[in-house]
Amino acid sequence: MVALNLIQLFDLSLRGRAEVEALEWQGRVYTFGDLDRRSDRMAQALAARGLVAGERIAVYLANCVEYIDLYLAALKLGAIFVPVNILYRERELAHIVNDSRPLLFISAEELPGLVAEAEACEAVRPVVTVDGDDGAAIIYTSGTTGVAKGAVLTHNNFAANAVNLITAWQMVAADRLLLALPLFHVHGLGNGLHCWLMAGFRVKLLERFEAGRAEEEFFSFKPTVFFGVPTMYVRLMQCAASIGESVRLFVCGSAPLPAQLLEEFREKFGSTILERYGMTETLMNISNPYVGERRAGSVGLPLPGVSVKVVDGEVFVKGPNVFARYWGREEATRLAFVDGWFRTGDIGSIAADGYVTLAGRKSDLIIASGFNIYPREIEEFLLEHPEVAEVAVAGQPDAVKGEVPVAYVVARGICDVAELERKCRAALASFKVPKEFVLVEALPRNALGKVQKHLLPKRSA
Ligand code: AMP
Repeated sequence: MVALNLIQLFDLSLRGRAEVEALEWQGRVYTFGDLDRRSDRMAQALAARGLVAGERIAVYLANCVEYIDLYLAALKLGAIFVPVNILYRERELAHIVNDSRPLLFISAEELPGLVAEAEACEAVRPVVTVDGDDGAAIIYTSGTTGVAKGAVLTHNNFAANAVNLITAWQMVAADRLLLALPLFHVHGLGNGLHCWLMAGFRVKLLERFEAGRAEEEFFSFKPTVFFGVPTMYVRLMQCAASIGESVRLFVCGSAPLPAQLLEEFREKFGSTILERYGMTETLMNISNPYVGERRAGSVGLPLPGVSVKVVDGEVFVKGPNVFARYWGREEATRLAFVDGWFRTGDIGSIAADGYVTLAGRKSDLIIASGFNIYPREIEEFLLEHPEVAEVAVAGQPDAVKGEVPVAYVVARGICDVAELERKCRAALASFKVPKEFVLVEALPRNALGKVQKHLLPKRSA
């Protein structure tokens, strides 16, 4: 078997561009060679603690340069990296640890000792052979409907994804990526980190996205590319229009980008956000084109190598990007695939010209007296009104209809709920009109800004 390890692809930068400045982190600049040596030392330190190929290492850290050292070190040892959401607390951590059974668990308390051990090691790269089908990472799904499952992503999955994105979005060594996404999620890790290390451009890594500092970051770093989630784009709307001057490409994903926001952003910054669609289990599937129409409300066209079809309203995908299996869950893996196609759980449709539009998670579909209601349609409509800053529509139990839509609205200024309802009545079929409008201070969102609908206040039937 011919072995492909992601490190070989990263060597295009780690070794091929060793002298080039690669990373800005907290005022320091690291070359690719620095990162190569740091991760060699870290690999030696992890090996001394017993980490070998196939064993898991869980990492529970906020973004930092050591995060990158640990990830590269794990790959160099052929170990399986288990990134853990930094917002998780005891119960969630216990689940991931019990499920993935890592040999090492690295948290902020653990890190200084480990770093000291690494600094005492020689920068010698371990010699291991890893097959492309071996797991590089186990990434846990957000688990909003049931237990969080660990998706085993292989070296080949990550390679296919990054090679695709580098081509599709024309990422080149001259680019500068402002990376404010968490590295524990596929958006930051699979898109940000992997594209960077393969294409060899420059990254400024932030611990997190801070709306109040965003303008300054854009002005000082002058990124050419920005990867964000919709909530970040909502916040960027407050920045000066000139932040967009250095940027050739704004990419958005991980949650639906409201069509209204794409239009407002284009108007203000003169740049059309490129929306794409992916998920933990599949990395990136579908993307609006770099050249050609970036259609508002649509996630675009299948990426090269990815097959997409819609079966009974649900999007199915197949391709080299699709994960191998759920860790330790044969039954869940079996149920997730139909004849080799992965059932995404997302509702979607394909236009005659191939553009795919998503309507939300299948589990969020509302069925009121037998009528299907797609929350996204109502959310998009409500967002067209300036008094609505953010909105989530969710199904709530109803004694008569089984379920009804309820709108949770974050108001911009004064929001007359009765007036909103009138507007809905005038524009939407009656069964789609939210039964209730609940004004809330903020929507419950996860670390990627995705609304956690199961955490919205319940209404009694
Ligand atoms: P995660 O595994 O946390 O990355 O979540 C993946 C889910 O996020 C997908 O199954 C979709 O429901 C949603 N998602 C990701 N990108 C988009 C997008 N561009 N538009 C709508 N939903 C998206």
